[in-house]
Amino acid sequence: MTLMPAHRLAPHAHARDLDAFREHSEHPTGRDHVPAHAWTGAAGGAPCGDLVRINLAVNGAHVADAGFAAAGCGAAHAAGSATVALARGAHVLNAARIGTAQVAAELGGLSPGKLHAAELAADALHRALGAAAGPERGAGGPERG
Ligand SMILES: [Zn+2]
Repeated sequence: MTLMPAHRLAPHAHARDLDAFREHSEHPTGRDHVPAHAWTGAAGGAPCGDLVRINLAVNGAHVADAGFAAAGCGAAHAAGSATVALARGAHVLNAARIGTAQVAAELGGLSPGKLHAAELAADALHRALGAAAGPERGAGGPERG
């Protein structure tokens, strides 16, 4: 007797999510890439010794180029790559909104044990953007001599 399940879950959904993580791990976007005139932000401190550094070049209001360096667990490398992929070409205001959830989503979802890596990568991105904005561009107030 053959049993054909009427409600098959999409069989590829999970495999595709795993592929996104693997793709960023095995073919990282912008690893050890430092654009010319790059601004850098770093974040670290997870128990697994993770350090994620994001380098980005800003041209006008857009992230012209980006790269990352990561040390620590595999998730940190994948998160750095995902963050670079999300940030490249983005308007700086949109890049500033990239958070843990978005980095995790780019990786097809992260288990709770790996979420810290997305957090670090997003932190590093925000620090790099903050450096790029600079005190004189960010304040918007009158300049003081
Ligand atoms: Zn880690």
